[in-house]
Amino acid sequence: MELSGKKITVIGLGKTGISTAIFLKKRGANVLVTDSSKDNKLFDAANKLQNIGVSVELGACGSSSFLNSEIIVLSPGVPHRIEPVLSAAKSGATVIGEIELASRFIKEPILAITGTNGKTTTTTLVGKMLEESGLKAFAGGNIGKPLIDYVDCGNKADIIVAEISSFQLDTIDAFRPKVSVLLNITEDHLDRYPDFNAYANSKKRIFENQQDGDCAIFNASDRNISLMAKDIKCRKLPYFSHNITADFDDYAKLTDNCIIFNLVQNIAAINQKAISSDHEFESKFSIPFSAIHLPGKHNIENVAAAILASLAAGGNLAGIISALEKFRSLPHRIEYVTTIKGVKYYNDSKATTVDSVIKALDVFDKPVTLIMGGRNKGSNFSLLTDAVKKHVKKLILIGEAKEEIKSVLGGTVETILSSSLEDAVFSASKFAESGEAVLLSPACSSFDMFTSYADRGEVFRKAVRGIVNDQKQ
Ligand code: ADP
Repeated sequence: MELSGKKITVIGLGKTGISTAIFLKKRGANVLVTDSSKDNKLFDAANKLQNIGVSVELGACGSSSFLNSEIIVLSPGVPHRIEPVLSAAKSGATVIGEIELASRFIKEPILAITGTNGKTTTTTLVGKMLEESGLKAFAGGNIGKPLIDYVDCGNKADIIVAEISSFQLDTIDAFRPKVSVLLNITEDHLDRYPDFNAYANSKKRIFENQQDGDCAIFNASDRNISLMAKDIKCRKLPYFSHNITADFDDYAKLTDNCIIFNLVQNIAAINQKAISSDHEFESKFSIPFSAIHLPGKHNIENVAAAILASLAAGGNLAGIISALEKFRSLPHRIEYVTTIKGVKYYNDSKATTVDSVIKALDVFDKPVTLIMGGRNKGSNFSLLTDAVKKHVKKLILIGEAKEEIKSVLGGTVETILSSSLEDAVFSASKFAESGEAVLLSPACSSFDMFTSYADRGEVFRKAVRGIVNDQKQ
């Protein structure tokens, strides 16, 4: 891809936008960065870029220089259907995302992981499994480092493990992962997509450019994904969370106490140095649930996907098992905080979808005091009715969506509204009894009250620690 002398606009002055602008400038492009925000916090980054000759426009997106761009590169969070982007595309500009741009300059094989939930957990776990197998993996994309940072980093990896969001898939063109993983598709981001089908089709694009010699790993028990499987053009490696519903040569399957792997031939799609003769390929093996130190059946599904992905990327069973032994829940994902007066507190702030809350509740066999709410992303909260009926003793609601959630679930369980997360935690500590759990699992994004899900999780942890201190006084 020729960049020198090209007029290129990068939209979004976040971490990815900054890296992309620097990358493009280094290659001789005429770079403009725009951001619709004028926040003071952007000034430092804007100055840094201006000092290396990049133009920056804050508080607007659609100036004449923007509309004259030959290429527009979108940062991950920027919708691709906003008016100025559509106008520029109509005038002939090529519109791509940072993932597409980076992938055109990455020579190493890419293992790409998407899905509504479980991307970060699975991506991180695959990275560890490959490292324990003796491979050097760069894990990034939607988590950690943007892929564009890898291109110039000078520290070359054997394989790139990339977490990819639906927004990033909206702006691919030729992006072709050697190994793709699609974990699940449930309702999410319906404030950004016209309907569920549009969102699901965006996820499906992970398979779009794969060909013979590539590998597609997917959750065949997910109805939406199983319908897509017929269109996959490369080797299929499904995993099933319950009964096998279709005929496949290679697969993994969850039973009551283990994951069974049934592989007809070596599934290593990537001819890497770790596919060595001292690690014999095993066509049939099982992983007992006792070897998995993560809560919930959903995480066992993530592990099944991660093992298939790691094998396809040239990992070996010894490395995979060793990584699994060490791996624990990431922060803010059904993360155990502490026990106070026999009540266990869990921080699941990253649960921003209805399905992730259902999965979290399923982990508990004792009554749960559930703290939910925040900014609704277009979710249908009535899907929670059965899980709430089964597991929740008291529902405490916060944030912009609290009235809406109350109108949907208030009739199912005793519900109260709180003005802050701290108040919600305090109320929860009064209701929950010894042997029970208090769970923050919001089913909403955090941006109405917090800067991020991590900020929300931190506030929760701090409020829980506050209860301990109150009791000491
Ligand atoms: P993502 O990166 O897709 O948001 P994470 O691994 O960060 O995924 O997990 C986000 C939330 O989704 C957490 O609450 C976690 O417990 C839940 N989760 C993880 N894996 C799954 C899954 N396979 N199905 C449903 N929920 C999941």
